[in-house]
Amino acid sequence: MIQPNRLTPDQYAENFSDIHPPFETTDAALVEANRCLFCYDAPCMKSCPTGIDVPKFIKQIATENIKGSAHTIFVSNIMGAGCSKVCPVEKLCEGACVYNFMEEAPISIAKLQRYSTEKAMAANWQLFKRKESTGKKIAIVGAGPAGLSCAHVLSREGIDVTIFEKEAKGGGLMTYGIAAYKVTPEFCEDEVNYILGIGGIEIKYNQELGKDISLADLQKDFDAVYLGIGVGLARQLEIPGEELEGVEDAIKFIYDIRNKGFNLVAVGDHVAVIGMGMTAIDAATQAKRLGAKKVTMVYRRTENEKPCTQAELDIAKLDGCEIIWLAAPKEIIGENGKVKQLVCSKMKLGEEDASGRRSPVDTGEAFILDVDMVIKAAGQMPFEELVKSYQIDNKNGKIKIEKEATNIAGVFAGGDCVNGGKEVVDAVQAGKDGAAAMIRYLSRKGAK
Ligand code: SF4
Repeated sequence: MIQPNRLTPDQYAENFSDIHPPFETTDAALVEANRCLFCYDAPCMKSCPTGIDVPKFIKQIATENIKGSAHTIFVSNIMGAGCSKVCPVEKLCEGACVYNFMEEAPISIAKLQRYSTEKAMAANWQLFKRKESTGKKIAIVGAGPAGLSCAHVLSREGIDVTIFEKEAKGGGLMTYGIAAYKVTPEFCEDEVNYILGIGGIEIKYNQELGKDISLADLQKDFDAVYLGIGVGLARQLEIPGEELEGVEDAIKFIYDIRNKGFNLVAVGDHVAVIGMGMTAIDAATQAKRLGAKKVTMVYRRTENEKPCTQAELDIAKLDGCEIIWLAAPKEIIGENGKVKQLVCSKMKLGEEDASGRRSPVDTGEAFILDVDMVIKAAGQMPFEELVKSYQIDNKNGKIKIEKEATNIAGVFAGGDCVNGGKEVVDAVQAGKDGAAAMIRYLSRKGAK
Protein backbone atom coordinates (compact mmCIF):
# COMPACT_ATOMS: atom_id res chain seq x y z
CA MET A 1 0.00 0.00 0.00
CA ILE A 2 1.23 3.49 -0.79
CA GLN A 3 1.21 5.53 2.39
CA PRO A 4 2.97 8.39 4.19
CA ASN A 5 4.12 8.36 7.83
CA ARG A 6 5.94 5.04 7.73
CA LEU A 7 8.65 5.99 10.22
CA THR A 8 9.17 7.85 13.48
CA PRO A 9 10.62 11.40 13.43
CA ASP A 10 13.94 10.03 14.72
CA GLN A 11 14.09 7.44 11.97
CA TYR A 12 13.43 10.09 9.30
CA ALA A 13 16.10 12.31 10.84
CA GLU A 14 18.63 9.48 10.84
CA ASN A 15 17.81 8.29 7.33
CA PHE A 16 18.10 11.77 5.85
CA SER A 17 21.14 12.99 7.77
CA ASP A 18 24.19 14.24 5.87
CA ILE A 19 25.69 11.35 3.91
CA HIS A 20 29.14 12.94 3.77
CA PRO A 21 29.69 14.45 7.21
CA PRO A 22 32.19 17.32 7.48
CA PHE A 23 35.52 17.24 9.35
CA GLU A 24 34.78 17.13 13.05
CA THR A 25 37.74 19.26 14.05
CA THR A 26 40.06 21.85 12.53
CA ASP A 27 42.97 19.51 13.25
CA ALA A 28 41.37 16.77 11.14
CA ALA A 29 41.07 19.20 8.22
CA LEU A 30 44.67 20.37 8.67
CA VAL A 31 46.00 16.82 8.78
CA GLU A 32 44.17 15.98 5.55
CA ALA A 33 45.31 19.22 3.87
CA ASN A 34 48.90 18.42 4.80
CA ARG A 35 48.70 15.03 3.06
CA CYS A 36 48.37 16.85 -0.28
CA LEU A 37 51.51 16.71 -2.42
CA PHE A 38 50.64 20.06 -4.08
CA CYS A 39 51.40 18.52 -7.45
CA TYR A 40 52.75 20.62 -10.28
CA ASP A 41 50.32 20.44 -13.22
CA ALA A 42 47.86 18.89 -10.77
CA PRO A 43 45.56 16.26 -12.35
CA CYS A 44 42.82 16.99 -9.80
CA MET A 45 42.58 20.57 -11.09
CA LYS A 46 42.51 19.46 -14.72
CA SER A 47 39.64 17.08 -14.05
CA CYS A 48 37.47 19.76 -12.40
CA PRO A 49 35.06 21.14 -15.04
CA THR A 50 35.35 24.58 -13.42
CA GLY A 51 39.16 24.32 -13.11
CA ILE A 52 39.37 25.03 -9.36
CA ASP A 53 43.01 25.42 -8.34
CA VAL A 54 42.87 22.49 -5.94
CA PRO A 55 46.49 22.44 -4.71
CA LYS A 56 46.32 26.20 -4.09
CA PHE A 57 43.15 26.10 -1.99
CA ILE A 58 44.41 23.07 -0.05
CA LYS A 59 47.72 24.83 0.61
CA GLN A 60 45.75 27.84 1.88
CA ILE A 61 43.82 25.58 4.27
CA ALA A 62 47.09 24.00 5.42
CA THR A 63 48.41 27.49 6.23
CA GLU A 64 45.10 28.37 7.90
CA ASN A 65 44.25 31.00 5.29
CA ILE A 66 40.61 29.93 5.08
CA LYS A 67 39.36 33.16 3.53
CA GLY A 68 41.99 32.84 0.82
CA SER A 69 41.07 29.23 0.16
CA ALA A 70 37.37 30.10 -0.13
CA HIS A 71 38.26 32.84 -2.62
CA THR A 72 40.35 30.39 -4.66
CA ILE A 73 37.36 28.04 -4.86
CA PHE A 74 34.67 30.65 -5.50
CA VAL A 75 36.62 32.52 -8.17
CA SER A 76 36.33 29.37 -10.30
CA ASN A 77 33.06 28.02 -8.94
CA ILE A 78 30.67 30.25 -7.04
CA MET A 79 28.66 27.13 -6.16
CA GLY A 80 31.76 25.49 -4.73
CA ALA A 81 29.96 24.84 -1.44
CA GLY A 82 27.10 22.93 -3.05
CA CYS A 83 29.40 21.16 -5.48
CA SER A 84 31.47 19.89 -2.54
CA LYS A 85 28.36 17.96 -1.52
CA VAL A 86 26.93 16.79 -4.84
CA CYS A 87 29.85 16.44 -7.28
CA PRO A 88 30.68 12.89 -8.36
CA VAL A 89 34.24 13.51 -7.15
CA GLU A 90 35.25 9.88 -7.62
CA LYS A 91 35.10 10.42 -11.36
CA LEU A 92 36.41 14.00 -11.22
CA CYS A 93 39.03 15.55 -8.90
CA GLU A 94 39.40 12.76 -6.33
CA GLY A 95 39.37 10.15 -9.07
CA ALA A 96 42.33 11.93 -10.68
CA CYS A 97 44.35 12.44 -7.46
CA VAL A 98 47.85 10.93 -7.75
CA TYR A 99 47.33 9.03 -4.50
CA ASN A 100 45.10 6.62 -6.47
CA PHE A 101 48.21 5.47 -8.37
CA MET A 102 50.01 4.83 -5.09
CA GLU A 103 47.09 2.69 -3.96
CA GLU A 104 46.35 5.06 -1.14
CA ALA A 105 43.15 6.96 -0.43
CA PRO A 106 42.92 10.12 -2.56
CA ILE A 107 42.91 13.47 -0.81
CA SER A 108 39.41 14.27 0.47
CA ILE A 109 39.16 17.26 -1.84
CA ALA A 110 35.39 17.65 -1.55
CA LYS A 111 35.51 17.55 2.24
CA LEU A 112 38.26 20.18 2.32
CA GLN A 113 36.33 22.31 -0.17
CA ARG A 114 33.30 22.03 2.06
CA TYR A 115 35.39 22.91 5.12
CA SER A 116 36.41 26.24 3.70
CA THR A 117 33.28 27.22 1.74
CA GLU A 118 30.94 26.47 4.63
CA LYS A 119 32.98 28.77 6.86
CA ALA A 120 32.76 31.48 4.18
CA MET A 121 29.00 31.09 3.88
CA ALA A 122 28.43 30.94 7.65
CA ALA A 123 30.40 34.16 8.17
CA ASN A 124 29.00 35.68 4.94
CA TRP A 125 32.47 36.61 3.73
CA GLN A 126 31.75 38.49 0.51
CA LEU A 127 35.02 37.92 -1.29
CA PHE A 128 34.24 39.76 -4.54
CA LYS A 129 33.56 43.41 -5.18
CA ARG A 130 31.42 44.62 -8.06
CA LYS A 131 33.14 46.86 -10.54
CA GLU A 132 31.58 50.26 -11.12
CA SER A 133 28.25 49.99 -12.94
CA THR A 134 28.51 49.79 -16.71
CA GLY A 135 24.82 50.67 -17.12
CA LYS A 136 24.32 47.40 -19.02
CA LYS A 137 21.47 45.05 -18.16
CA ILE A 138 21.23 41.34 -18.83
CA ALA A 139 18.25 39.03 -18.37
CA ILE A 140 18.84 35.43 -17.34
CA VAL A 141 16.10 32.84 -17.56
CA GLY A 142 16.52 30.22 -14.85
CA ALA A 143 18.07 30.58 -11.38
CA GLY A 144 19.76 27.19 -11.53
CA PRO A 145 23.52 26.62 -11.35
CA ALA A 146 24.14 27.93 -14.91
CA GLY A 147 22.04 31.07 -14.39
CA LEU A 148 23.44 31.86 -10.94
CA SER A 149 27.03 31.32 -11.98
CA CYS A 150 26.50 33.46 -15.08
CA ALA A 151 24.85 36.19 -12.99
CA HIS A 152 27.70 36.29 -10.48
CA VAL A 153 30.38 36.74 -13.16
CA LEU A 154 28.32 39.48 -14.86
CA SER A 155 27.67 41.26 -11.59
CA ARG A 156 31.37 41.25 -10.75
CA GLU A 157 31.89 43.11 -14.03
CA GLY A 158 29.38 45.83 -13.09
CA ILE A 159 26.52 44.52 -15.20
CA ASP A 160 23.03 44.53 -13.68
CA VAL A 161 21.30 41.16 -13.85
CA THR A 162 17.66 40.20 -13.55
CA ILE A 163 16.95 36.48 -13.27
CA PHE A 164 13.52 35.15 -14.17
CA GLU A 165 12.81 31.90 -12.32
CA LYS A 166 9.70 29.79 -12.79
CA GLU A 167 9.86 28.18 -9.34
CA ALA A 168 9.37 29.90 -6.00
CA LYS A 169 13.02 29.34 -5.02
CA GLY A 170 16.40 29.58 -6.74
CA GLY A 171 19.01 26.86 -7.13
CA GLY A 172 17.36 24.82 -9.90
CA LEU A 173 18.31 21.17 -9.85
CA MET A 174 20.34 21.70 -6.67
CA THR A 175 17.26 22.92 -4.79
CA TYR A 176 14.63 20.71 -6.39
CA GLY A 177 16.23 17.61 -7.88
CA ILE A 178 18.84 16.09 -5.55
CA ALA A 179 18.47 13.66 -2.65
CA ALA A 180 17.84 15.44 0.63
CA TYR A 181 20.63 13.49 2.38
CA LYS A 182 23.16 15.13 0.03
CA VAL A 183 22.01 18.75 0.26
CA THR A 184 19.18 20.11 2.37
CA PRO A 185 16.70 22.69 1.02
CA GLU A 186 17.91 25.05 3.77
CA PHE A 187 21.50 24.78 2.57
CA CYS A 188 20.42 25.50 -1.01
CA GLU A 189 18.58 28.62 0.08
CA ASP A 190 21.64 29.81 2.02
CA GLU A 191 23.82 29.20 -1.03
CA VAL A 192 21.54 31.24 -3.30
CA ASN A 193 21.48 34.09 -0.76
CA TYR A 194 25.26 33.95 -0.47
CA ILE A 195 25.62 34.28 -4.24
CA LEU A 196 23.18 37.20 -4.30
CA GLY A 197 25.23 38.87 -1.55
CA ILE A 198 27.47 40.48 -4.17
CA GLY A 199 24.58 42.77 -5.17
CA GLY A 200 23.39 43.77 -8.62
CA ILE A 201 21.39 40.54 -9.11
CA GLU A 202 17.64 40.48 -8.73
CA ILE A 203 15.61 37.26 -8.96
CA LYS A 204 12.00 37.49 -10.04
CA TYR A 205 10.32 34.27 -8.92
CA ASN A 206 7.30 32.47 -10.40
CA GLN A 207 8.13 33.87 -13.83
CA GLU A 208 7.98 31.23 -16.51
CA LEU A 209 9.28 31.81 -20.02
CA GLY A 210 6.47 31.43 -22.55
CA LYS A 211 3.82 32.03 -19.87
CA ASP A 212 4.61 35.03 -17.69
CA ILE A 213 7.42 36.46 -19.80
CA SER A 214 8.30 36.30 -23.47
CA LEU A 215 11.65 36.24 -25.19
CA ALA A 216 10.64 39.29 -27.25
CA ASP A 217 10.04 41.34 -24.10
CA LEU A 218 13.38 40.32 -22.64
CA GLN A 219 15.16 41.22 -25.88
CA LYS A 220 13.45 44.60 -25.84
CA ASP A 221 14.17 45.40 -22.18
CA PHE A 222 17.71 44.05 -21.83
CA ASP A 223 21.05 44.30 -23.64
CA ALA A 224 21.35 40.51 -23.88
CA VAL A 225 19.51 37.39 -22.70
CA TYR A 226 20.92 34.15 -21.29
CA LEU A 227 18.82 30.99 -21.29
CA GLY A 228 19.65 28.60 -18.47
CA ILE A 229 16.30 26.85 -18.48
CA GLY A 230 17.60 23.34 -17.83
CA VAL A 231 15.66 20.23 -18.71
CA GLY A 232 12.54 19.34 -16.87
CA LEU A 233 10.08 17.08 -18.54
CA ALA A 234 10.35 13.46 -17.42
CA ARG A 235 10.69 10.99 -20.28
CA GLN A 236 7.62 8.78 -20.46
CA LEU A 237 7.90 4.99 -20.57
CA GLU A 238 5.16 4.78 -23.20
CA ILE A 239 3.92 1.41 -21.98
CA PRO A 240 0.41 0.28 -21.01
CA GLY A 241 -0.58 1.11 -17.44
CA GLU A 242 1.49 4.27 -17.15
CA GLU A 243 -1.63 6.21 -16.08
CA LEU A 244 -2.30 3.99 -13.04
CA GLU A 245 -2.29 5.37 -9.51
CA GLY A 246 1.11 4.63 -8.03
CA VAL A 247 3.14 5.50 -11.13
CA GLU A 248 5.20 8.61 -10.45
CA ASP A 249 8.00 10.64 -12.05
CA ALA A 250 11.26 10.50 -10.10
CA ILE A 251 11.71 14.26 -10.39
CA LYS A 252 8.31 14.89 -8.81
CA PHE A 253 9.00 12.32 -6.10
CA ILE A 254 12.35 13.94 -5.23
CA TYR A 255 10.78 17.41 -5.45
CA ASP A 256 8.08 16.41 -2.96
CA ILE A 257 10.60 14.95 -0.52
CA ARG A 258 12.43 18.27 -0.58
CA ASN A 259 9.32 20.41 -0.27
CA LYS A 260 6.99 18.55 2.05
CA GLY A 261 7.92 17.01 5.39
CA PHE A 262 9.45 13.52 4.97
CA ASN A 263 6.45 12.02 6.78
CA LEU A 264 4.04 13.55 4.28
CA VAL A 265 5.53 11.81 1.24
CA ALA A 266 3.74 8.57 0.48
CA VAL A 267 5.74 5.54 -0.58
CA GLY A 268 4.78 1.98 -1.48
CA ASP A 269 5.62 -1.35 0.15
CA HIS A 270 7.45 -2.57 -2.93
CA VAL A 271 8.72 0.13 -5.23
CA ALA A 272 10.18 -0.41 -8.69
CA VAL A 273 12.46 2.33 -10.00
CA ILE A 274 13.06 2.45 -13.75
CA GLY A 275 16.49 3.74 -14.75
CA MET A 276 20.03 3.82 -13.38
CA GLY A 277 21.09 7.49 -13.60
CA MET A 278 21.73 9.70 -10.60
CA THR A 279 18.05 10.66 -10.40
CA ALA A 280 17.06 6.98 -10.36
CA ILE A 281 19.51 6.29 -7.55
CA ASP A 282 18.29 9.33 -5.58
CA ALA A 283 14.67 8.18 -6.00
CA ALA A 284 15.41 4.55 -5.07
CA THR A 285 17.53 5.31 -2.01
CA GLN A 286 15.04 7.88 -0.74
CA ALA A 287 12.08 5.52 -1.26
CA LYS A 288 13.95 3.05 0.93
CA ARG A 289 14.80 5.75 3.46
CA LEU A 290 11.12 6.79 3.59
CA GLY A 291 10.32 3.26 4.73
CA ALA A 292 9.54 1.20 1.59
CA LYS A 293 9.99 -2.47 2.47
CA LYS A 294 11.54 -3.35 -0.84
CA VAL A 295 12.98 -1.27 -3.68
CA THR A 296 13.95 -2.85 -6.98
CA MET A 297 15.86 -0.92 -9.61
CA VAL A 298 15.34 -2.03 -13.19
CA TYR A 299 17.87 -1.14 -15.92
CA ARG A 300 17.86 -2.24 -19.53
CA ARG A 301 21.62 -2.56 -19.96
CA THR A 302 24.32 -4.18 -17.80
CA GLU A 303 26.33 -2.76 -14.93
CA ASN A 304 29.12 -1.86 -17.39
CA GLU A 305 26.87 0.64 -19.18
CA LYS A 306 25.30 2.20 -16.07
CA PRO A 307 25.04 6.00 -16.24
CA CYS A 308 25.46 6.48 -12.47
CA THR A 309 28.86 6.32 -10.77
CA GLN A 310 30.04 3.28 -8.82
CA ALA A 311 29.83 5.33 -5.61
CA GLU A 312 26.13 6.08 -6.32
CA LEU A 313 25.43 2.43 -7.06
CA ASP A 314 27.16 1.45 -3.82
CA ILE A 315 24.85 3.81 -1.87
CA ALA A 316 21.80 2.12 -3.44
CA LYS A 317 23.17 -1.32 -2.62
CA LEU A 318 24.07 -0.32 0.95
CA ASP A 319 20.54 1.01 1.37
CA GLY A 320 19.30 -2.45 0.43
CA CYS A 321 17.95 -1.64 -3.05
CA GLU A 322 17.88 -4.66 -5.31
CA ILE A 323 19.12 -4.29 -8.88
CA ILE A 324 17.91 -6.14 -11.95
CA TRP A 325 20.18 -5.60 -14.95
CA LEU A 326 19.09 -6.25 -18.55
CA ALA A 327 15.40 -5.66 -17.90
CA ALA A 328 13.06 -3.13 -19.51
CA PRO A 329 9.53 -2.22 -18.41
CA LYS A 330 6.91 -3.66 -20.76
CA GLU A 331 3.58 -3.14 -19.01
CA ILE A 332 2.21 -2.01 -15.66
CA ILE A 333 -0.72 -4.11 -14.53
CA GLY A 334 -3.29 -2.57 -12.22
CA GLU A 335 -6.17 -3.54 -9.98
CA ASN A 336 -8.92 -1.04 -9.13
CA GLY A 337 -6.90 1.64 -10.90
CA LYS A 338 -3.79 1.06 -8.77
CA VAL A 339 -0.42 -0.47 -9.61
CA LYS A 340 -0.23 -4.19 -8.85
CA GLN A 341 2.53 -5.62 -11.03
CA LEU A 342 5.31 -4.56 -13.37
CA VAL A 343 5.96 -6.75 -16.38
CA CYS A 344 9.55 -6.54 -17.62
CA SER A 345 11.17 -7.81 -20.80
CA LYS A 346 14.46 -9.63 -20.41
CA MET A 347 17.05 -7.88 -22.55
CA LYS A 348 20.44 -8.71 -24.04
CA LEU A 349 23.07 -6.41 -25.47
CA GLY A 350 23.20 -5.88 -29.24
CA GLU A 351 25.23 -3.54 -31.43
CA GLU A 352 26.79 -0.28 -30.30
CA ASP A 353 24.57 2.79 -30.71
CA ALA A 354 25.51 6.43 -31.41
CA SER A 355 26.53 6.89 -27.75
CA GLY A 356 29.11 4.12 -28.11
CA ARG A 357 27.20 1.83 -25.74
CA ARG A 358 25.73 -1.48 -26.82
CA SER A 359 21.97 -1.24 -27.33
CA PRO A 360 19.60 -3.40 -25.32
CA VAL A 361 17.58 -5.88 -27.40
CA ASP A 362 14.41 -7.68 -26.26
CA THR A 363 15.00 -11.43 -25.86
CA GLY A 364 11.26 -12.12 -26.07
CA GLU A 365 11.20 -13.47 -22.52
CA ALA A 366 9.50 -11.60 -19.66
CA PHE A 367 9.10 -11.68 -15.88
CA ILE A 368 6.74 -10.06 -13.40
CA LEU A 369 7.44 -8.04 -10.25
CA ASP A 370 4.72 -7.61 -7.63
CA VAL A 371 4.91 -3.90 -6.87
CA ASP A 372 2.56 -1.18 -5.68
CA MET A 373 4.57 1.81 -6.86
CA VAL A 374 6.59 2.50 -10.02
CA ILE A 375 8.95 5.47 -10.14
CA LYS A 376 10.05 6.51 -13.61
CA ALA A 377 13.58 7.85 -13.87
CA ALA A 378 14.27 7.13 -17.51
CA GLY A 379 15.73 10.56 -18.18
CA GLN A 380 14.46 14.06 -18.79
CA MET A 381 13.64 15.81 -22.00
CA PRO A 382 14.46 19.36 -23.04
CA PHE A 383 11.70 21.94 -23.39
CA GLU A 384 11.34 21.21 -27.09
CA GLU A 385 8.05 23.03 -27.75
CA LEU A 386 9.19 26.16 -25.94
CA VAL A 387 12.51 26.28 -27.76
CA LYS A 388 10.89 25.67 -31.12
CA SER A 389 8.21 28.30 -30.48
CA TYR A 390 10.99 30.90 -30.38
CA GLN A 391 12.67 29.47 -33.51
CA ILE A 392 15.85 28.77 -31.58
CA ASP A 393 18.12 26.30 -33.41
CA ASN A 394 17.94 23.00 -31.58
CA LYS A 395 18.32 19.25 -31.82
CA ASN A 396 15.24 17.55 -30.38
CA GLY A 397 14.84 20.52 -28.06
CA LYS A 398 18.52 20.76 -27.02
CA ILE A 399 19.57 24.32 -27.86
CA LYS A 400 22.41 24.60 -30.36
CA ILE A 401 25.04 27.21 -29.55
CA GLU A 402 28.18 28.53 -31.13
CA LYS A 403 30.54 30.23 -28.69
CA GLU A 404 27.57 30.16 -26.26
CA ALA A 405 25.39 32.21 -28.68
CA THR A 406 22.15 30.86 -30.13
CA ASN A 407 21.04 31.65 -33.68
CA ILE A 408 19.11 34.66 -32.31
CA ALA A 409 21.21 37.79 -31.99
CA GLY A 410 21.84 38.73 -28.37
CA VAL A 411 20.42 35.47 -27.00
CA PHE A 412 22.86 33.07 -25.37
CA ALA A 413 22.33 29.72 -23.66
CA GLY A 414 24.10 27.14 -21.55
CA GLY A 415 23.84 24.32 -19.05
CA ASP A 416 21.39 21.44 -19.21
CA CYS A 417 19.19 23.06 -21.90
CA VAL A 418 22.21 22.80 -24.20
CA ASN A 419 23.91 19.60 -23.03
CA GLY A 420 20.73 17.65 -22.22
CA GLY A 421 21.58 17.21 -18.54
CA LYS A 422 25.03 16.91 -16.98
CA GLU A 423 26.43 17.59 -13.50
CA VAL A 424 25.85 20.76 -11.49
CA VAL A 425 29.53 21.62 -11.88
CA ASP A 426 29.22 21.48 -15.69
CA ALA A 427 26.34 23.95 -15.52
CA VAL A 428 28.40 26.29 -13.34
CA GLN A 429 31.16 26.31 -15.97
CA ALA A 430 28.60 26.82 -18.74
CA GLY A 431 27.31 29.88 -16.86
CA LYS A 432 30.84 31.30 -16.66
CA ASP A 433 31.38 30.70 -20.38
CA GLY A 434 28.04 32.33 -21.16
CA ALA A 435 28.92 35.40 -19.09
CA ALA A 436 32.29 35.75 -20.86
CA ALA A 437 30.60 35.47 -24.27
CA MET A 438 28.00 38.11 -23.35
CA ILE A 439 30.66 40.49 -22.04
CA ARG A 440 32.47 40.17 -25.40
CA TYR A 441 29.14 40.68 -27.19
CA LEU A 442 28.37 43.85 -25.21
CA SER A 443 31.82 45.31 -25.85
CA ARG A 444 31.46 44.59 -29.59
CA LYS A 445 28.02 46.20 -29.53
CA GLY A 446 29.34 49.19 -27.60
CA ALA A 447 32.18 49.65 -30.08
CA LYS A 448 29.79 50.00 -33.02
FE1 SF4 B 1 46.90 17.15 -3.94
FE2 SF4 B 1 45.99 14.83 -5.08
FE3 SF4 B 1 45.66 17.17 -6.35
FE4 SF4 B 1 48.13 16.14 -6.11
S1 SF4 B 1 46.42 15.27 -7.28
S2 SF4 B 1 47.51 18.30 -5.80
S3 SF4 B 1 47.95 15.15 -4.09
S4 SF4 B 1 44.75 16.59 -4.36
